Amino acid sequence: MDKDVEKLLSSYLKELFLNTIRECYGEVAHQARQESLSYQEYLLELAEKECLSRRNNRIERNLRESKLPRDKNLDTFDLTQVPGKVAHQVRSLREGAFVDHKENILAFGNPGSGKTHLLCAIGQELIRKGRTVYFATCSLLVQDLLKAKEALELRRALKKLSKYDVLIIDDIGYVQQDRAEMEVLFTLLADRYERGSVMISSNLPFSKWERIFKDPMVTAAAIDRLVHHSVILELNIPSYRMATAQGKKRLKTAAN
Ligand code: ADP
Ligand code: MG
Repeated sequence: MDKDVEKLLSSYLKELFLNTIRECYGEVAHQARQESLSYQEYLLELAEKECLSRRNNRIERNLRESKLPRDKNLDTFDLTQVPGKVAHQVRSLREGAFVDHKENILAFGNPGSGKTHLLCAIGQELIRKGRTVYFATCSLLVQDLLKAKEALELRRALKKLSKYDVLIIDDIGYVQQDRAEMEVLFTLLADRYERGSVMISSNLPFSKWERIFKDPMVTAAAIDRLVHHSVILELNIPSYRMATAQGKKRLKTAAN
């Protein structure tokens, strides 16, 4: 191709932020000539490549921003080790329709039963399907919100969280919280109610949530909001850590 044409084309593509096309149009043109593609087919090939690379970049960026641990994904999660009902639920949840309906996921179970791993794995699947996710342990999230509140920036902090399609709050109730901490947590949940999905893990059944929210009315209000549109994952199984440490697989019957 004419050197001037090449230079000009390259600079236009750069101005249009079509970097993938800029990198590969020459090579694809060569291929198109060999395969006698039409002009439209050539353009289609380039447009497809550009879209694909942007989608992949977006997913990569969203994965980074989500703070999700990469190693906790569905490939590394053994679904045969959880109750059949949960495995079934996961197959449908990974598709992500619950996010569109602003439904919540609540994972309950003993320490080591796989709650964190499972929620993170679903989170990663959702990002790969184009959603945005933010993962935090409950205690860190609450600390961040408290700091924001002290700086009179709670609204702004909540707004920032509200831009994510899904918020994963890991280990709610694990650390005993004082009243101020409980209040920001409640504010966060109330803020997201029917506006965005929340995925929560907890070792505590609802009957013990008064330990988290202190006041019975506040506890009832928090549970009510979370449960209204929700899917509950019951991981009532012995610890995976313990089982693997003992060199054996958990018996599925122990869970059912
Ligand atoms: P929890 O959050 O319920 O305390 P975790 O998700 O942290 O439990 O699981 C404990 C450990 O066991 C983690 O290292 C996790 O990756 C692993 N684990 C738990 N369940 C499974 C599973 N079904 N398949 C593979 N690894 C699992
Ligand atoms: Mg956990």
